[in-house]
Amino acid sequence: MADTISVLPDSVANQIAAGEVIQRPASLVKELVENAVDAGADSIQVILKDAGRTLVQVVDNGCGMSETDARLCFERHATSKIKQADDLYAIRTMGFRGEALASIGAVAQVEMRTSTGEHPGGTRIVIHGSEIQLQEPAACPDGTSIAVKNLFYNVPARRKFLKSNTVELRHILTEFHRIALAHPRINFQLFHNNSEIYHLQASQLHQRIVSVFGKGINQNIIKIQADTLMINLSGYIGKPKIARKKFGEQFFFVNQRFMKHPYFHKAIMQCYERLIPPDTIPSYFIFLDIDPSRIDVNIHPTKTEIKFEDEKAIYQILQATVKESLGKFSITPSLNFNQEGAIEIPVPHPGEPVSIPEIKVDPEFNPFASHLRRTAVPQNWERLYSRENNHDNIRDQSSESMFSQHKAETPSFIQLKNKFILTPVKSGLMVIHQVRAYERILYEQFLKNTGLASFSGQKSLFPVTIELSIPDEQLLLQVAPSLKSLGIELESFGGQSVLIRSLPEILSDQDPKTLIEQLIEALRTESLNLKEHLREMVAGKLAGVAAPSLNRYLNNEERRFLIDELFACKEPQFTPSGKNVLTILQLDELEKQFF
Ligand code: ADP
Ligand code: MG
Repeated sequence: MADTISVLPDSVANQIAAGEVIQRPASLVKELVENAVDAGADSIQVILKDAGRTLVQVVDNGCGMSETDARLCFERHATSKIKQADDLYAIRTMGFRGEALASIGAVAQVEMRTSTGEHPGGTRIVIHGSEIQLQEPAACPDGTSIAVKNLFYNVPARRKFLKSNTVELRHILTEFHRIALAHPRINFQLFHNNSEIYHLQASQLHQRIVSVFGKGINQNIIKIQADTLMINLSGYIGKPKIARKKFGEQFFFVNQRFMKHPYFHKAIMQCYERLIPPDTIPSYFIFLDIDPSRIDVNIHPTKTEIKFEDEKAIYQILQATVKESLGKFSITPSLNFNQEGAIEIPVPHPGEPVSIPEIKVDPEFNPFASHLRRTAVPQNWERLYSRENNHDNIRDQSSESMFSQHKAETPSFIQLKNKFILTPVKSGLMVIHQVRAYERILYEQFLKNTGLASFSGQKSLFPVTIELSIPDEQLLLQVAPSLKSLGIELESFGGQSVLIRSLPEILSDQDPKTLIEQLIEALRTESLNLKEHLREMVAGKLAGVAAPSLNRYLNNEERRFLIDELFACKEPQFTPSGKNVLTILQLDELEKQFF
């Protein structure tokens, strides 16, 4: 048999390679802008025509290339970024595979102008489908400009696969956002069909996020930061209220490279559990800085999938950091962190281990027992909310005359419709939803008591029997261990009846039978297969079932208790299912009403 193997000519090999790296105009934007970043540019322009179909041009003020390099850069495996295999483990540049320009040159018409600024002039090169058309000295500004025209002009099958301009432009913007967010210190401009779409000035990350996603996000992101021996984390996470149903504002960067990481995404999602509706996704912009030898970037041509040596540990650091920041935020919901007079939030110092904030509360405490006792409430929430001075207070109903000076120094808590508690704070009027506040308090109280032994607030009952259908009995027995750890002891009595032996002290005002029946009702719609969060889920349901009992008149002291207890919670702003517990009617909004 005759020999049949032959080595493919470069132009064909490049075209095949291009299939992996260059899928659409957005790939050109990614590769060319990454090269500009690697070249040390601090100003980068992206110029597009017809969503990149007819033109993608990237102009930078980076280091430029010598005449020889200008020719070499279009060869396959031509790179200045690594020299030997070992360098792969120390990569800090975006590129290193040396295949982008070779691929681009194979499937488009490319014109490059580049100058290092050292020699008198620069170089101009034109390549069509891997064929050099022209190379000549040319006067050009320092840096590099690469114009890619008519992508896939010589691969009609691929050109046909391009989607509508709207879709292609959206892909381009996705890539552009990733790089622009990763490099806030670089000026970026993006033009499409001669109109300027973005002009991003060099700035801090916070400002860059706002420039990319609009002013609406300005007050709605929370800083995160953790420095550990293994990894440094920084960036921002979105407040629960800006969580969206669609993906779009989720960004992980490793050493300033965008990556997708479903496992780390899950870590973040878990932190927001019960803070946001179940079908929504929180925003995040998280930067991981790690020794390049601990990751493998080279597992996919577009390098958006990255392997980590210590995935589990990073998962935990990530979770602790995000939870801590969320916890800090939720006790200070309406504060603008840049404002003067903002409260002091304990900030971890570099080197200190990251810990999840914990607030200790007496588990025995029942705020609504008839004999009201004060517990040591660790948070002086008035400070958090900068309460109004007394003379400005909304007058208590007990004032003798509307205009008499307030005598007592006690703050006002007005109850409205047995449903809301109103109290003045510096920025306006805080309105607290009683039942939801109680729901949050109960939930945190339940979860604080791990294991029956430590459940000091448990109360034995004269056992109450409830009769159940077979499926309901099964349901209840399935969650019995979780209930037990929450202070509710049940016993199967046989023949579909269940005995309730004890309830937590905090639920002592509830009718045990109704409580359990309502709990079953609430659990019916849940899938109980997820062992992991069963206890939290049951605690959340239980709190939801028990809280409506607080839909009633509260005396002054009870109002104060409710509020103190609420602000002793880790996350006073939301119910376990993510509903708002409180809101502040802003003073300036009120002022507008009287204009
Ligand atoms: P890689 O980025 O993986 O090295 P590329 O094909 O993207 O491979 O680029 C090949 C080489 O061309 C780079 O290593 C770099 O030396 C040079 N180069 C590409 N773009 C630029 C640019 N904008 N400015 C300066 N040098 C560049
Ligand atoms: Mg490159």
